[in-house]
Amino acid sequence: MSNEEFADIREAVSALCAGFPGEYWRELDRERAYPTAFVEALTEAGFLAALIPEAYGGSGLPIAAAAAILEEIQAAGCNGGACHAQMYTMGTILRHGSEAQKQRWLPGIAAGDLRLQAFGVTEPTSGTDTLSIATTAVRDGADYVVNGQKVWTSRAEQSDLMVLLARTTAKDQVKRKGDGLSVFVVDLHEAVGNGVTIRPIRAMLNHATTEVFFDDLRVPAENLIGEQDRGFRYILDGMNAERILIASECVGDARWFIDKAAAYAGERVVFGRPIGQNQGVQFPIARAYAAMRSARLMVREAAALFDGGQACGAEANMAKLLSADASWQAADMCLQTHGGFGFAEDYDVERKFRETRLYQVAPVSTNLILAYLAEHVLGLPRSY
Ligand SMILES: Cc1cc2nc3c(=O)[nH]c(=O)nc-3n(C[C@H](O)[C@H](O)[C@H](O)COP(=O)(O)OP(=O)(O)OC[C@H]3O[C@@H](n4cnc5c(N)ncnc54)[C@H](O)[C@@H]3O)c2cc1C
Repeated sequence: MSNEEFADIREAVSALCAGFPGEYWRELDRERAYPTAFVEALTEAGFLAALIPEAYGGSGLPIAAAAAILEEIQAAGCNGGACHAQMYTMGTILRHGSEAQKQRWLPGIAAGDLRLQAFGVTEPTSGTDTLSIATTAVRDGADYVVNGQKVWTSRAEQSDLMVLLARTTAKDQVKRKGDGLSVFVVDLHEAVGNGVTIRPIRAMLNHATTEVFFDDLRVPAENLIGEQDRGFRYILDGMNAERILIASECVGDARWFIDKAAAYAGERVVFGRPIGQNQGVQFPIARAYAAMRSARLMVREAAALFDGGQACGAEANMAKLLSADASWQAADMCLQTHGGFGFAEDYDVERKFRETRLYQVAPVSTNLILAYLAEHVLGLPRSY
């Protein structure tokens, strides 16, 4: 596309991704295996440390640059879902951790020696209602003792560290509704076998996702981030970055589906002419392109506000909503354009179709974004 921001970064990411073609992803998908070589290549190139300030060993780039990196990964047919959290989960430590905690973890994360890709918020009984989580952390001497269960904790098996949200004060004993939850950094090497059990979940897509059980896990109090009972705010604070970056991945996915469909529609000859000559085939491709471009504008607006230190809750949510819709529209169009061949593994369409479907649900579902806009932007009564 013309007028690209961060053209050099985009070019470098595309060149790296060219070394990880469809066969690489197909094989991993079959085995539900982690793309270790791909993640190592991104780490060595410094892309995953884009948002860590230079003082801690990262490149201190704006979120717009991180968005460009993830967009190009997806547009090349790769999947940043394997490691995107390495970019933004550290934001909780960066924004709310003490200087000692930043010195302890951020340089290792920037260098790629420490993987912080696991983010334990969702639980089986509370779902989207985060304030109802049941995992508890109780202070005992120099430690907190954690009991409970998380579900859909992605990359727990591949991470060294996990950002964990747990209840430290009972729901009926807090003064303000959002109080009572706290954020901890858990050292998974120490924890597994000493109070933590991780079980992989075989899912529709290859996302290294798991359920994690906590049974009297002792977490040193020095691993508490910020103040006890204030953790929900810290998690909310990181969500705009997450939404902007995942929206950008969806834009990249949409670009991949559109390019793939346009190429196939131009080549595939049925009834003596390319199928793309039929308006019934070309119009859905054109419509998907227009949807992708408009979603991309909202991602850019949200990123510009975020980088300018301005409020961007509505824009980050709309970027996620519009981009996830654009990628899903493009995915459906691409499958349809390919006819029966869209269902064959070798074309990669069915794999990308399964992968991009996730973003209608995670990390926040479409309904919850609409509820946010209705309540916080349009002033309508809260619906839940
Ligand atoms: C592959 C994968 C990876 C994930 N990775 C992580 C991770 O690393 N860390 C983590 O913490 N979580 C992770 N998640 C969890 C994800 O964030 C949740 O699945 C998501 O937030 C929805 O929660 P839920 O599945 O419990 O759905 P529920 O909350 O049970 O909701 C089910 C449906 O009901 C709708 N709904 C619920 N309440 C309302 C309402 N008030 N109004 C209208 N509609 C409503 C939702 O939109 C949804 O469609 C992952 C999920 C998946 C599938």
